Amino acid sequence: MEKRIYNFSAGPAVLPEEVLLEAQKDLFALPGVGMSVLEISHRSKIFDKIFADAVEGLRSLLSIGENYSILFLQGGASLQFSMVPLNLMPPQNKADYIVTGSWSKKAVKEAKRVGTVNIAASTEEEKFKRIPKQEELKLDPGAAYVHFTSNNTIFGTQWHAEPNVGNVPLVCDASSDILHKKINVNKYALIYAGAQKNMGPSGVTVVIIRKGLLERSQDSLHTMLNYKTHVENGSLYNTPSVFGIYIIALVTKWLKNIGGLDAMYKLNKEKAAVIYDCIDSSGGFYKGHAEKDSRSLMNITFNLPAEELEKKFVSEATAAGFDGLKGHRSVGGIRASIYNAFPKKGADDLANFMRDFQKRNS
Ligand SMILES: *Cc1c(COP(=O)(O)O)cnc(C)c1O
Repeated sequence: MEKRIYNFSAGPAVLPEEVLLEAQKDLFALPGVGMSVLEISHRSKIFDKIFADAVEGLRSLLSIGENYSILFLQGGASLQFSMVPLNLMPPQNKADYIVTGSWSKKAVKEAKRVGTVNIAASTEEEKFKRIPKQEELKLDPGAAYVHFTSNNTIFGTQWHAEPNVGNVPLVCDASSDILHKKINVNKYALIYAGAQKNMGPSGVTVVIIRKGLLERSQDSLHTMLNYKTHVENGSLYNTPSVFGIYIIALVTKWLKNIGGLDAMYKLNKEKAAVIYDCIDSSGGFYKGHAEKDSRSLMNITFNLPAEELEKKFVSEATAAGFDGLKGHRSVGGIRASIYNAFPKKGADDLANFMRDFQKRNS
């Protein structure tokens, strides 16, 4: 078999080897079915079982109650930037947005097409290097909802606890950290996440929505843009991403097998600590972008003393089997994305590579 390398890509991103091997084994023909998952009908009994496994996997890992619907949609997290305000903003037609990075800004752009957006806080002037503190939030108690981005994939910052928003429904873009730890879903009105960072392949977006919110979705909305359509049709109004849902089912099974989200969280903290410790003990050679108490466990962003050195770092790292370390084009530097499926050994090996690179270049 081909050798695998360390994949630090921000998304689509690394998947668990166990999941890939199982998918590979079943790709010619699902056991007892004689057809692969790529070929079956989304209205078949076989798919009903796969779909139920994916829903049950998410429900049990995150303890999601029956008062929430779980949807598998298409259009990426980016379509949710529109669907959230189209469905949830009326009748108030105003919502609060906490802006902590490029994805939050894109969410704001679409919400503004629907109604009034109050920027409850923004850390843009500080290059999005931190998460705002609770006392900085200028929340409107009459807002239709508060939107925030739990993990800022590009800047490498993360909320370590939800903002406190009182009785206003809380909406979260959790695309790059869903399932990285246990959260209390009851604090949220709606959570959405593109699968391709921490859950599966691209092409499917999970939406977890409190059922009581559906009364806001007006019949005048386009059918496909209305959450009610997808809830009433169990995500099967049209053809869903069959393969994407299948992989999510396998990923949730993998998470349960390794001990669930508490075990996953412990491992995620250990992986991140290895690399952050390397940054912090480098005497300033490596400089983290995020403030320490805003650091992400999923995306670690840092700089070297000069851009030339960063280029050299990326090219030598790539040659050594560490792929995808170049920072996002909008911020530069280095970004190591170490999602759930990224192995601890890979974090250890990167830290060793970083120490060695520093020795050779300072
Ligand atoms: C990647 C990402 C998105 C965009 O996801 P698409 O599925 O490509 O639309 C949105 N929000 C966050 C936080 C992301 O990391």
